[in-house]
Amino acid sequence: MNQKKLITTLLFLSFVFSATAQEVIAHRGYWKTDGSAQNSLAALMKADAISAYGSEVDIWLSSDGVPVVNHDADISLDGKKMLVQETPAATLRKVKLANGEPLPTVEEYLNAFEKCKTTKLIIEFKTHKTKEREDELAEKVIKMIHDRGLQNRVEYISFGINFVNQVRKLDPNALVYYLNGDLSPRVIKSMGAAGIDYHHNVLKKNPHWVQESHNLGLKVNVWTVNTPDDINEMIDLKVDFITTDEPLLTKELINKRK
Ligand code: MG
Repeated sequence: MNQKKLITTLLFLSFVFSATAQEVIAHRGYWKTDGSAQNSLAALMKADAISAYGSEVDIWLSSDGVPVVNHDADISLDGKKMLVQETPAATLRKVKLANGEPLPTVEEYLNAFEKCKTTKLIIEFKTHKTKEREDELAEKVIKMIHDRGLQNRVEYISFGINFVNQVRKLDPNALVYYLNGDLSPRVIKSMGAAGIDYHHNVLKKNPHWVQESHNLGLKVNVWTVNTPDDINEMIDLKVDFITTDEPLLTKELINKRK
């Protein structure tokens, strides 16, 4: 085979593989397993141990400006409910996750992430009360990622358009996906985002958005897909990433189709 033919073949094969590869993202890490808990350091390490493409994590800014990890807008401490964004980090640290770990800061999460071998960190910026707080969170976290040289191993997602714009501004090379399900792929493309990351019901209603995204050079992620029927339906729709609480089952169903 001459060199030109070989290059053409390799290009073709890489196209075939990139067109068919479907990847699994562990929603809030791999937490449905012994010793784990949603958004815990253990869940991140366990997502890496099963070679998930990505491990998703939700982050907030504490009242005193510390990026922290939590899904809900509030936490419960000694029977009292408190908003994460209105509580100082030292108080948030007293919250215990279901596996006994203290609620992690982003700093701690990145310390653990540096030990991961293959998984990417999919950081969800939670929407805050003001644009200023959101901007502060985006600036701090993106700086942390860059200071550690982790920018090629991190992707961002958010329901907030402001966060999509902030990521684009602060790190134009970073991949950022929009979660809210209300914008067409054409609009997402014009925002400079990497693709859509929508609830599976949104894609069921708008199945043409998958092909439309691909035609525009965008990727498609879908959340949170947990039942075999839904997972198979999303595989058939040819989405690029499936975000799930069942990463092993999803991997198995994807491999069955190969
Ligand atoms: Mg999330």
